[in-house]
Amino acid sequence: MATSFSSRLLHLLRPSPFSASLRPTRIRPERRIFTSFAGPSENPRKEEIVVVGAGIAGLATALALHRVGVRSVVLEQGDSLRTGGTSLTLSKNGWRALDVLGVGDELRSKFLQIQRLVIRSEDGRELRSFSFKEEAPGQELRGVERRVLLETLASRLPPNTISFSSRLKSIERQGSEGTLLELDDGRRVLAEIVIACDGVHSPVAKWMGFSEPNYVGHCVFLGLGLYPDGQLFKPEVNYFYGRGMRAGFAPVSSTKVYWFITFNSPSPGPRTSDPYVLKKEALDLVRSWPQELPDVVQRTPEDGVVKTSLADRWLWPGFSPPSWANGVVVIGDAWHPMTPNLGQGACLALEDAVVLVSKLRGVIGGRRELIDQVLREYSKERWARVFPLTIRANLVGSLSQWENPVFCSFRNNIMIPKLVRLGRLVEHTNFECESLEPAGSA
Ligand SMILES: Cc1cc2nc3c(=O)[nH]c(=O)nc-3n(C[C@H](O)[C@H](O)[C@H](O)COP(=O)(O)OP(=O)(O)OC[C@H]3O[C@@H](n4cnc5c(N)ncnc54)[C@H](O)[C@@H]3O)c2cc1C
Repeated sequence: MATSFSSRLLHLLRPSPFSASLRPTRIRPERRIFTSFAGPSENPRKEEIVVVGAGIAGLATALALHRVGVRSVVLEQGDSLRTGGTSLTLSKNGWRALDVLGVGDELRSKFLQIQRLVIRSEDGRELRSFSFKEEAPGQELRGVERRVLLETLASRLPPNTISFSSRLKSIERQGSEGTLLELDDGRRVLAEIVIACDGVHSPVAKWMGFSEPNYVGHCVFLGLGLYPDGQLFKPEVNYFYGRGMRAGFAPVSSTKVYWFITFNSPSPGPRTSDPYVLKKEALDLVRSWPQELPDVVQRTPEDGVVKTSLADRWLWPGFSPPSWANGVVVIGDAWHPMTPNLGQGACLALEDAVVLVSKLRGVIGGRRELIDQVLREYSKERWARVFPLTIRANLVGSLSQWENPVFCSFRNNIMIPKLVRLGRLVEHTNFECESLEPAGSA
């Protein structure tokens, strides 16, 4: 069920499950690149830095480390990079981080820059349109295919950095020795520093005492409409607001158009894996909406429709555990899962990675106390950035998902046309990451 403000508090007060054992949820076929971790009967292999998870945060962290000349090993439970997940919108702050990582221009060349934002009601009436150039100069918004983003980050890593089919099963402190990580198949590694980028249901965050993220009361369908002969849409994000439901689409490249439909639901509902059913459910929601929207959905390959429930975690000061402890730190969704209403989760994960490495680079290989001091500073600095945005994304979602006809009428006839200022709306994207010196030999 969707969680109220008070149940969020109760959630935080639950005792920490500080268990060293993490339950496996899926087993992948064997296809390891990195095979030299020690087995159960041998001494564990020692590594300076282990990153858990080859998602956006994990790959960005490994690349940032590589750019400052530091080697890391990335443990990924999947047998390859994630190829699903359709597309993400990255704002100026995400692009700044990608520039620091040295992949900004490569990605820019593949994806269209969005020039306008057009908001309509479900009957197609235009409520407002904004020009980024005029109202938020300097903003850079592009839809980016998740697969391409991950592949681009991974392509810049030295060979064998990512160890696929390496699912973290348990984690245990070994005093001054470091942190012992055990994988599903019994391989073990002893790490001086563990950077946990293991996503929204992070086992490491759970081990550190964080609660599971809270379902916020809405689910989303998303996909990429394919136009092999070229799409003819303007470079605009099109939003449609209904009652308890909103949808949108935006061209990503010359042949692909990203779409989403967010709808209220008292619970996440059963997992539907039948792709035909998923596409039909998505189409049924918007059949009577402006025709261009169901047309884009219709263009999506049958197995390309994704449905997911939305959740976040509010990092209450004093209640939420610290994001670091004894050389272990959680970043990205593992630490601050948030709803996608501001399109910021991946942008912040990229920022997290760059900021962490720019702080850590001076102490890697140094004393544990120094490393922990840097992790504490990092956590404090980033908390001030990510916590307000988590709350704001949640509030924007609630307002966008209003069902009450009076509230919806206020939103569509007064708030959006008269009160919203685009510049204010995207102010949070004004964030510059410190530059990382490229490694001399990279
Ligand atoms: C519907 C939706 C739309 C979104 N749209 C946007 C958007 O437009 N813009 C934006 O900036 N953000 C968006 N986001 C948010 C964005 O997707 C996330 O913030 C981002 O993916 C976080 O990256 P991450 O690396 O922290 O986690 P993930 O990308 O989830 O990566 C975690 C990785 O860890 C691995 N892993 C997990 N457990 C283990 C284990 N035990 N052992 C080894 N590996 C493990 C996983 O396999 C995965 O590869 C959206 C999110 C959703 C749900």
